[in-house]
Amino acid sequence: MTISLLGAVVCFFLTSRIVDSSRATFLEGTYSNFRDYGSLISNQMEITGYLNSPNSNVDNELNTIAELYGGRVVVTNAYHVIVYDSYQTETGKTLVSKNIVACLSGKEVYEINEESEHAKILLPLRPTGAESVSGALIVQVSISDELQNFKTFRERAISYGLIAWLVVLLAAWLAAVWIAYPIKKIMQAMKHIASGFLNEEVHVNGNREAASISRSTNEMLWKNNQLEKSRQEFVSNVSHELKTPMTSMKVLSESLLVQPDTPVEMYREFLTDINDEIARENEIITDLLTLVSLDKSAAVLKLVRTNMNALIETILKRVKPLAEQRGIEVVLESYREVFAKVDEVRLMMALTNIVENAVKYNREFGYVHVTLNADLRFVYITIEDAGIGIPEEEIPHIFERFYRVDKTRSRETGGNGLGLAIAQEIIQMHQGTIRVSSKEKEGTTFTIRIPLNVQML
Ligand code: ADP
Repeated sequence: MTISLLGAVVCFFLTSRIVDSSRATFLEGTYSNFRDYGSLISNQMEITGYLNSPNSNVDNELNTIAELYGGRVVVTNAYHVIVYDSYQTETGKTLVSKNIVACLSGKEVYEINEESEHAKILLPLRPTGAESVSGALIVQVSISDELQNFKTFRERAISYGLIAWLVVLLAAWLAAVWIAYPIKKIMQAMKHIASGFLNEEVHVNGNREAASISRSTNEMLWKNNQLEKSRQEFVSNVSHELKTPMTSMKVLSESLLVQPDTPVEMYREFLTDINDEIARENEIITDLLTLVSLDKSAAVLKLVRTNMNALIETILKRVKPLAEQRGIEVVLESYREVFAKVDEVRLMMALTNIVENAVKYNREFGYVHVTLNADLRFVYITIEDAGIGIPEEEIPHIFERFYRVDKTRSRETGGNGLGLAIAQEIIQMHQGTIRVSSKEKEGTTFTIRIPLNVQML
């Protein structure tokens, strides 16, 4: 609509400009002819003294002009007295009008009367080089041919203008269809998907923009489906993990119940196992609750200026007894005293999980080497162990919830596959990054980078 309206305005404007400018060309063509005659005749009049005593030579010349143009030619002298009239009716009379006064004062006058289809031209007679005006040449000619030509031209220009506007209208309509049609198709496809067909894709062949919208929609759908898939996986993992200790407890308690005279030792043993399973169940639930409560935004963090050296030393002190049981050496190498604004409790939980893993997945008499450093913007922590390492193909998965490289081994060490997921979420909440590099049977290094000042978004 806008393009066609603009097109109409432009076409109308251009057509009227063309018509206006050509009007002068059509109607004033006669004028320039008479100008030439004017100067020619005034020279002849000067030479022959015509204005004082008319002579037949100039008369003939004037008659020829009158006949040639089918009009009337009148000549006055400087005193408004008519010395020649091709109609021979007004000779000798005095002619006074606004136009003749203007002409005798040296101005050329051109007047068109479209109704009577006549043009009147008044030319001052001024011999070449002379200053003063010695008379006036008045020519009145019919311009009906010129007017007719102009009218034909005007009609043609208007119809071309209209055709141009129709072309613009058609182009605007085609453009609208070309743009709107694919969008309509996309909307239909999206409605269809929204009604529950989430696995379908949008396929629209149209302009580049439509193709890019459908590509982005498909990407969004794909991500959504992935999210839904991982949510389902998570739910089924949670159910499985929670059910396992329950099943063990049920088996243990049932076996006690079915035996009528169970010895006390056996009761003790089974109850200890049941107690372990309860502790395990409790641990899973606590970890799950932690994970659910973690929001990836920094807004929920309780940020306080924390001495990172002290924080890491506390963690290491806690894991040292466990490490010492297996002869594992735990060392902190700190390059400087580092203060950072972090959520102390949460960050401690994240780092504890990683350090505990370094001890858990270590070998007898191995080592855990922790470094702490900082520059102007970040604090850097590395946790390196000389443990069992992680197979290369497993590395991308270790941050997934419930993911364990060696299911049986982790069970022995008491893991549930949530530790690294929790650690990663906490570090990301601090707008930090965690990377891992590992070699099977050689060891693993986790590298953590956290901004010294977490930005509240
Ligand atoms: P878990 O409770 O099983 O330790 P995590 O989420 O902490 O769960 O770790 C996921 C898995 O990544 C572990 O089961 C283990 O297989 C592997 N892993 C984590 N840290 C290390 C490490 N330092 N060395 C070797 N493997 C590790």
